[in-house]
Order: sequence, then C-alpha cells, then structure tokens
Amino acid sequence: MILLQDFTLEELTEYLTANYNVKPFVAKQVYGWLTKSVDFDGMTNISKDLRESLKRKCVAVSCKIIKTLSSADGTQKFLFELFDGNVIEGVLMKYKYGNTLCVSSQVGCRMGCKFCASTLESLNRNLSAGEILGQVSSVNALEKSGERYVTNIVLMGSGEPLDNFDNVVKFLRLVTSKNGLNVSERNISLSTCGIAPKMRELADLGFSVNLTISLHNADSEQRKQIMPITNAFSVEEVISACRYYFEKTGRRIIAEYTLIDGQNDSYSHALKLASHLRGISAHVNIIALNPVKETGLKGTGENNLKKFIKYLDKLGISATRRRTMGQDIEGACGQLRRRYLEGSYEK
Ligand code: SAH
Repeated sequence: MILLQDFTLEELTEYLTANYNVKPFVAKQVYGWLTKSVDFDGMTNISKDLRESLKRKCVAVSCKIIKTLSSADGTQKFLFELFDGNVIEGVLMKYKYGNTLCVSSQVGCRMGCKFCASTLESLNRNLSAGEILGQVSSVNALEKSGERYVTNIVLMGSGEPLDNFDNVVKFLRLVTSKNGLNVSERNISLSTCGIAPKMRELADLGFSVNLTISLHNADSEQRKQIMPITNAFSVEEVISACRYYFEKTGRRIIAEYTLIDGQNDSYSHALKLASHLRGISAHVNIIALNPVKETGLKGTGENNLKKFIKYLDKLGISATRRRTMGQDIEGACGQLRRRYLEGSYEK
C-alpha cells in the first residue's frame, strides 16, 4: 500500500502525474484533502474515476481515530488504527496557550525502560512519516471551525523517535511545511531516552525543535538498571550531546526526571543531577512515576517529591513539577494501547 500522507506536495505531484496522468493542480487539491485527513470519499472536487483508482493502491488517511477517552481535566486520549490493523495512541493536552498533541513514533518500543508500558511487548514496527503526521491531521480534523486544533506537538508517545530517525526527520519536514500543516519548529518537542549520536545528527540537520532528554537518573550505573540504553551511551555522553544540541540550535534542553520511590529520589541523586546539568542551559521537569500495573514500580510520594524539587532549587538547578494530566484515563505512555490489546476496550 502507498500511504499518500508520506509524500511532500512535490512527491505527490510527481507520483500522481506519472502514474495517473493528472494535472499538477489536481495533485495540489488531493494534498489539501490529505492535510485535513479527508478520505477518498470526501474529496468532492476530485473525479470519481481517479478516487476509485487511487483506492485500489493507496491509503489517504493513514491514522484513523477508533476510540477517544476524555478526562475530567479536558485531556483526550486517542486510539488510532493504522492501515495494517496495528493500533497506536496519542494524547491531547489542553493548556491556556494552546493544545499539545503527544504523538507516537513506533508501534511498541525496543528501548526496554523498566517503568514504561510501551516497551512491554518490544518493537512491532516503525511508523512512517505519514503515519506520524496522520495522528496530527486526524486530531486537527476534529475541530470543525477551521481553526487550528493542535498548536504544539511532542514526540513523546510510544516509541523512541531517534530509533526511527529517517521517518521522524521526514515527519518534521512534512509537518513544518508551508504546503502542509505549517507548524512552527519551536512548537515541536522531541523526547529521547538518549541515543547520543542521533541527538548530534539531529542538531546537525538544523531544525530548531526542542529536545527533551528522559534522564530519570544521573548516575550511569544506576540508570542502566532502569534504562538499558545507558549500556550503549553513558549519562556523560548523553549530557555532552545535549550541550552540542544547545550550541547548534540555541534551544534550551529539557530534562525529564520521573521520580520512582526509593530509586532516584534522594539528596545524593539530586546532587548528581545538579553536577551534570550545571553550566548547561537546561530545565528539569519533575513528575512522579505514573504507576503501570505490570512494572511493580511505585511513584515517589508527595512530600519527597516536593523535597526533591527544593534540593534542586538550592543547588541552583531550574526545576518544576510537570502537571500530571489525564491520569484517570491512563495517560502514561503505552497504557491505552496495552488495555486495548488485552481486550479491555471494544472498538
Ligand atoms: N522514547 C522517548 C519518548 C517516549 S516516552 C523517551 O524516552 O523520551 C515519553 C516520556 O514518558 C519519557 O520521558 C518516559 O521516560 C516517560 N514515561 C514512560 N513511562 C512512564 C511512567 N510510567 N510514568 C512516568 N513517566 C513515564
């Protein structure tokens, strides 16, 4: 199957003119529909013949919303179905300044972080650029007024974006394109568990997207216990790649630090974290672990969480607590898909 949302306007024009003998302006019309996640049947200004022939070989909407859960705080969680029947998830969080959609980059994940639900069944497959884009355009399509629904995007759903580097880079090109959704690079964040060489490669490509590093422990030996990627790239290598990223892009680094009871939440952990981040333009986002029943790990309690932020503050490190959103709808990475696969949700 050919996923039309994988194409840039130029690529789509080339494909349609070469294979379907259509004029470039028709390709542009089709592109307009794809940007709005409208399926072939809704492409009213395209001839029926062309639509019928396209249907045989191509997919127009690469991600279809098959389930929506709404939280009391306004957060919405979506389950998307892909053309091959795989399912992925996304979360829309509503803030004063706009709506942030958290998108997935892979079906499953092979990074093996001990606290994360996405990794429980390892990697199934990479998402194509159009499948990442399709999550954004499908959610945008929910807003009928024509106003932009998704204003900010975080690549923080299931999967490790830098483990699917080429498709993620193509997605960044597509989603920021003036012909497409035209989202500003500054409104996009990419979160990684720390594939240091790919962080550098991304910096070299010249995008000015925000980079978030999921740190969770600043001691390499301890971090290995919860994040096996540390066996390949030490905390030192990751921090050095962060510094490089900042130098190249001028974007402040965000460090995610999920507090796990008794594992990474003591004063000595704060000291180690501070010693690594000192001198770097970075901000730490603190969050208590979102319990995933399969992992057996517990989040740090309220008092210790506040203490940890105070420690960092005293050590001169900028840190705030990240608001937890959508906890009543299993907002944590990979949880909804997991319940779906277990058969807890009907379509
Ligand atoms: N692979 C990327 C992006 C996906 S994970 C990364 O590692 O950054 C998105 C974020 O959710 C990461 O910071 C991850 O560490 C965090 N996360 C995963 N499971 C969690 C849980 N149960 N509680 C809190 N944060 C979690």
